[in-house]
Amino acid sequence: MKSYGHEGGRVFPTKEQFDKHLELPACKREGCQEITVDGTDITYPGRQWKALNYREGSHSKETEEYCFGCAFWFDRAKDMHDGVVIVEKNGERVRYSFDAGMPISKSPASCRGFGGAMWTIQFKDGREVQTNNLWCQSAIPEHFWDMFEVNARFV
Ligand SMILES: [Zn+2]
Repeated sequence: MKSYGHEGGRVFPTKEQFDKHLELPACKREGCQEITVDGTDITYPGRQWKALNYREGSHSKETEEYCFGCAFWFDRAKDMHDGVVIVEKNGERVRYSFDAGMPISKSPASCRGFGGAMWTIQFKDGREVQTNNLWCQSAIPEHFWDMFEVNARFV
């Protein structure tokens, strides 16, 4: 589909639709670049998720002035546990997670992360863990890196 710009999965086929979207209140997160004008280097802060059609309670109350993308990472930053894996990969910082209480899952492989593939994770704190139920939570935007220290590598 031809598009003028997008914010996450939200696509704006015409400049009119795009400009109307930009009239909504902007994300307050400094460094936010969730909106891109397709085919250019031009970016804008995302729009506050409260102003869009998201369900009440999609994200925590403190994130109401953030866009959907920033709210997601803000909430992930508060959800740190032993199964959170943050690795550097091709210049990106990527967050994965698994259930540290049950790293080896017996559920059908098709229900597990990466189709049940086995991963060995070497944590900086000395733990080495194998899991067959790892989930990728995608690349962390650079302006959130201060909240997500690299803590592991795959071996
Ligand atoms: Zn944002």
